[in-house]
Amino acid sequence: MDLGIRGKRALVCASSKGLGRGCAEALAEAGVDLVMNARGAEALEATAAGIRAKSGVDVVAVAGDITTEAGRAAVLAHGPFDILVTNAGGPPPGMWSDWSRDDFIKALDANMLTPIALMQAVLPGMMAQGWGRVVNITSVSVKAPVSVLGLSNSARTGLTGFVAGTARQVAGKGVTINNLLPGIHATDRAVALDQGVVKARGISMEEAFAERAATIPAGRYGTPEEFGAACAFLCSRHAGFIVGQNILLDGGATNTTF
Ligand code: NAP
Repeated sequence: MDLGIRGKRALVCASSKGLGRGCAEALAEAGVDLVMNARGAEALEATAAGIRAKSGVDVVAVAGDITTEAGRAAVLAHGPFDILVTNAGGPPPGMWSDWSRDDFIKALDANMLTPIALMQAVLPGMMAQGWGRVVNITSVSVKAPVSVLGLSNSARTGLTGFVAGTARQVAGKGVTINNLLPGIHATDRAVALDQGVVKARGISMEEAFAERAATIPAGRYGTPEEFGAACAFLCSRHAGFIVGQNILLDGGATNTTF
């Protein structure tokens, strides 16, 4: 299917690895020029070079922490953008009693206030040109809390509330905002969480992986490629009537009717 977005320009945050990288690769395959970002310059440059070579699109790599004002200013300087994919690392796991005010502020900054600041920066230009796509990478924890991820549960729910209202305010100008909610995907983040289980329970990595895979009706972890393809579709010209949705990509793991 031709996604109809060849020649558009996208900012894909936190995209040297994992789900952000999957989104960048799928958009590049659809002919979208990219501004990519991550803190580590080496991995970012390597991923950007790979995408350039494979897709032939224009790729600008901007190293920096997207959760800081300076990091956001550095990527936004390469606008204007037709497409925005927000993403950042997830907060650490722990117990409800572990976290201080500072821990919450850090999580809110990364997973709520950063995507909001990025949307506030790009939405006026998208609305003025009458077309735009925003996809926020959030988490399954928005639909069903993950008990060890209280910081994520809190911050991402706040972002979801902002999107629910804002998406309806900008849709009339041809701009859509939607959230993709990953369940367990085979990325470094998933390996880090599995390592936490290995340490806490004294089991092997293979056992931790098999146990988690068994909780997913699809019987496996999702892949960044599948995730990226869903993101690219939401950014396509075919997705203009999908507004303010929270789309679970979790292999059926969240046991809900809606
Ligand atoms: P990942 O494999 O660890 O990749 C994270 C990417 O983001 C890397 O490119 C990393 O590069 C970059 N990054 C992290 N913090 C950044 C920052 N402050 N500024 C700029 N770039 C940053 O993680 P992932 O699995 O793709 O997860 C992406 C998001 O989805 C996270 O918020 C995660 O919590 C959420 N999620 C993931 C899963 C899953 O199963 N994978 C499930 C639910 C939710 P640098 O480290 O070099 O900056």
